[in-house]
Amino acid sequence: MTKLAFIGLGNMGSGMCANLAKGGFEVTAFDLNEEAVKQAVSAGATKAGSIKDAVSDVDVVVTMLPAGKHVHQVYFGDDGVAASAKPGTLFLDCSTIAVEEAREAAKKADEAGFAYMDAPVSGGVAAAEGGTLTFMVGGPEEGYERAKPVLEKMAKNVFHAGAAGNGQVAKIANNMLLGISMIGTCEAFNLAEKLGLDAQTFFDISSTASGQCWSMTSYCPAPGPVPAAPSNRDYKPGFAVAMMLKDLKLALASAEGAGAETPLGHHAEEIYAKLDEDGHAGLDFSGVMKRIRGEI
Ligand code: NAD
Repeated sequence: MTKLAFIGLGNMGSGMCANLAKGGFEVTAFDLNEEAVKQAVSAGATKAGSIKDAVSDVDVVVTMLPAGKHVHQVYFGDDGVAASAKPGTLFLDCSTIAVEEAREAAKKADEAGFAYMDAPVSGGVAAAEGGTLTFMVGGPEEGYERAKPVLEKMAKNVFHAGAAGNGQVAKIANNMLLGISMIGTCEAFNLAEKLGLDAQTFFDISSTASGQCWSMTSYCPAPGPVPAAPSNRDYKPGFAVAMMLKDLKLALASAEGAGAETPLGHHAEEIYAKLDEDGHAGLDFSGVMKRIRGEI
């Protein structure tokens, strides 16, 4: 049986770890937060008291951490994963981090005799719990083949995006588009309403016309047309403004490095940054509707 270590049992990681344990893997779980480890144990994992304890006898290490600095520290810091894992262990980082940080991690892992794949996800806490995430994976074909059976236990879709870092490229480019399209969708609904067209009628027309997009049909920011959308529960997340802002910042930093023009990405970042600054970091990102309506 494939043995796994799971490190980072937060909002996303707890559900992912539970699905791996349920999926027939032997999982050792570690987090700085002991409560999170207890919860993982109740979901079928084995408690690890340290990174060393978690990784020294496994085939694959899965991480779901807040940001790039945590990823580098957990893998390559003193007493990190690389110091205790068996040679050849597969490192599978599912966190959203900068493209450059992921490529650097892949290089360091390779030099130390490990395989590293970046495998960020699309889908929030509900998809993590339900095992319906989409994974975008960067790294060599051989690593991808090893990663796939593990990722499939947590996924609806698994894509190989190409070389190291390309998973993160797919993630940030997608989320930049999402941030922009959400604001555009809010503007269109607000304009329609101001000019006398109710949200449901506009939705019925536009969702079958050329303005159609995911932000409208699956996550409509105007209350009513899509019952499961956060707009129907006063924009409780879902996917919070702070998370969207993090991804936009990563996208813009990488865009600058690559010399890619992102005028709307910049504007979207300013809009979410202002919401964040004004105390709305915890609002769902479709709550930008409230700002456009002048309610906040
Ligand atoms: P979180 O803050 O809830 O969880 C992170 C966990 O990592 C925490 O439990 C924390 O204690 C643990 N941790 C931090 N440093 C550690 C260390 N040195 N050793 C061991 N454990 C450590 O974050 P989250 O919402 O689960 O997000 C995780 C990642 O997934 C982020 O990169 C985020 O951008 C990405 N993501 C989140 C969502 C979402 O909807 N929450 C969606 C897609 C992607």
